[in-house]
Formats: sequence, C-alpha cells, structure tokens
Amino acid sequence: MANILQPTRGTRDLTGEDMARHQHVVETARHSAALYGFGEWQTPIFEDTRVFSRTLGETSDVVTKEMYSFEDRGGDSITLRPEGTAGVCRALITGGLTQTLPQKVFYAGPMFRYERPQKGRYRQFHQIGVELLGPATPLADAETISLGWRILQELGIAGEVGLHINTLGDAESRNAYRAQLVEYFSRYRDELSEDSKLRLEKNPLRILDSKDEGDRKLVADAPKMQACMTRDATAFYDSLLNYLTIFEVPHQHNPHIVRGLDYYNHTAFEFVTTALGAQGTVLAGGRYDGLVEQMGGPKVPGIGWAAGVERLSMLIAPPPTAPAPVAIIPMGADDEGRALEVLKTLRAHNIAAEMGYSGNVKKRLERANKAGAAFAVLIGARLELKNLADGGQTDVTIEDLSRQLRT
Ligand code: ATP
Ligand code: MG
Repeated sequence: MANILQPTRGTRDLTGEDMARHQHVVETARHSAALYGFGEWQTPIFEDTRVFSRTLGETSDVVTKEMYSFEDRGGDSITLRPEGTAGVCRALITGGLTQTLPQKVFYAGPMFRYERPQKGRYRQFHQIGVELLGPATPLADAETISLGWRILQELGIAGEVGLHINTLGDAESRNAYRAQLVEYFSRYRDELSEDSKLRLEKNPLRILDSKDEGDRKLVADAPKMQACMTRDATAFYDSLLNYLTIFEVPHQHNPHIVRGLDYYNHTAFEFVTTALGAQGTVLAGGRYDGLVEQMGGPKVPGIGWAAGVERLSMLIAPPPTAPAPVAIIPMGADDEGRALEVLKTLRAHNIAAEMGYSGNVKKRLERANKAGAAFAVLIGARLELKNLADGGQTDVTIEDLSRQLRT
C-alpha cells in the first residue's frame, strides 16, 4: 500500500464535534453581529502581497516571519491572508464603498500564518471579525467592543474572560510617547532582544508587545503613555470608557496592550482568558484611522476586532446537537418503493429523514439508535411510527406523519 499522506503541518480537519463547535462559534457571532446591524462580507483568501506588507507594518511578526507569500504562475507576488482587516479595507476602496459610510462589516473564514504549531496555534486557523468603517466617535468603538462581549456571553464564556483596554492616543500623543520610549529603551539597548533592537529603530511602541522575557522586564519600568496624552485623546478615551459602562461591558485599563500590528491608534483592546495558558487572547482589536488612506484610499477612520475560532471552540461547552434524522425503514425488499415515497414526503415538509442503504430491520433499527434518531418509521403492510426512546409504536397514515414529526 502507498504511504498515507498526512495533513500539512499546522492544519487540521474539522469533523464531528470539532466541526459542531466551530460552526456554533461562527453562527453565534454571525447572529449577534446582525443584531448590531453588521452585514457579512467575504473577501478573497489571497491578495496582492502589498495589501498586507504595506499595512501591517514592516516590523510586525506577521509580515517579518509569518506570511505565506508565493509567486503565482504569472509572476505576481500573492499572499494567503494572515488577517481580515487589510482585505476588508482593500475591498472598501476598490468597491467604491468609501462613498457610502458607515460600513459595518462582519466576516468569518480561514487565515494563514507560518507559525510554530502548538495548542491553539495553527498555520491555517479561522477568525471571526468585524470592522466599523467611517465614524471616528468613541461610540463606534464602544459598540464594536460591546458586540465582542455579547458574543462571548452568548457562547457562555464571558465569565472566564476579561477585557483589557488601553489607548495609544492620537498622532501627537503617540509621537511624544515614541520619543520617550526611544530615550528609555536606548539606555538598555544591549539588553533588548534582536527583534526589539529593530523595533527601536522602526516602531518602538511594538517593544511593549514583545513576548521575550528580557524585553518584558524592561517594559515593566518603561514610561507610560498616560503622561503623553493630549486633551483630545484623553477625552476620547474617557468617553469610550463611559460608553462601555453604559453598555455594561466590564473592563480594566492595561497600559501594556499595544497590539502587534502597526496600524492602530486611540483604542487597543484584548479579551483575555486564563484558561488557555500562553494562548490567552481570544478576541482583540483596535482603532485604525490611518489605514484606508495608507492603502491609497480617502481618509476613512475604522475600528474592528478579530477572534480566533479555534480558541473560542476550545473554551465553549459542547454545543447542543440536533436530533438525527428520522430513520425510514422498509420491512422487506418489496417495501422500498413506498419507503422512498415516505422519505420524499417528509423531506418535502422540511423534516430531516434518511434511509439506510442496506441491512435487515434489526440492523437498521440498531443504526438509527446509535445515530441518535428520536423516531423511526417502519414501512411494511402497515405504516408504523416508532418512538426510539421508549420503544412505543403506533399506526399512522402518511398524512399524520409529517404533522406528528414536526416539532
Ligand atoms: P498571538 O499573540 O497569540 O500570536 P496575535 O496578536 O498574533 O496573537 P491577532 O493577529 O490579534 O493575534 O489575531 C486575533 C486572534 O486570532 C488571536 O487572539 C487568536 O485568537 C487568533 N489567532 C492568531 N494567530 C493564530 C494562530 N496561529 N492559530 C490560531 N489562532 C490564532
Ligand atoms: Mg501572533
């Protein structure tokens, strides 16, 4: 026998309960997003590499180490999307939608990052996310965050998750802070990790987000953003926290939340759990007022977040399973024709029904029980409805059937 090919490293198949969990997360999010007035978009899973390289920042881990980029047969550089925001902004611009704002976007789908696979970290993973494009008011941030909180509540995991929130200020506050960070970290230049030495040149704020042990020690005593905040930026943040209180979203200020991508300003936040060890961030995002302009579009402020479906799937309780389809069982070979009529009738009435492809009555009943069916219909000289839970059996007509099985 030939070798059995294995799934590519960092990818996984979704079947059975894994699929049920995944689907439950996505459908719960989709439903909540609709309640907040967000409509769904789907953008391609691959884009021109520049859609990501120009926007995520040249010092972000995603761009420097994690992108799945390749040259296609026409010689163009293509990248499998590592995240959703850049593609949505690209679609906003190329679709001419910057004329019809606000746009409130929900998306769900696979993302790709070349990372070392471990629990909760894959090379193909899935995200749900939202983007609210247009308004620059803190109310937009609050609604977007409130939607994230609601989804976590609907999934039954809000109790294990806390919202950590920070402000990165406006351009003026950020520049002032940047200067302070450069001064501080330059004093410890030799102690910084190689990555952070580079960040010191290009985007010193990113050092605050470093996962390196040594960096983290230095970060603990680094200057805080607060002192550099302009009046406007402070007012924005205060207003946001006030709205969060109105929306009843518990939150705590955390000055170390800066997010890994370069395009954030003002709001940055993460919903964090202690239940998943090192992979504790389940939903994260922020405001990105300069991104659309940076991509060549007009100035369109935006706020959004993304959440890892795999990590959410691990946290939720097994979702309720729908009962298996009604089992249609012909008593003998001659009864197959009538059994097929029953099968067609039930499906026509939107009742899930299936008929096995082989086996005697006993085998078929065993299989129906094992599959978790609530009812079987036995088709012989008579038509009988069998309740598989208590074994009770009653004669029925085909007209009765669809009425009784519709629950
Ligand atoms: P991390 O710090 O864990 O690497 P990140 O900052 O790279 O996360 P984001 O880019 O903010 O993550 O993506 C949002 C969410 O997507 C994360 O909080 C996480 O739940 C999920 N996620 C990111 N990368 C992966 C991955 N490789 N496998 C599974 N889920 C992921
Ligand atoms: Mg990462």
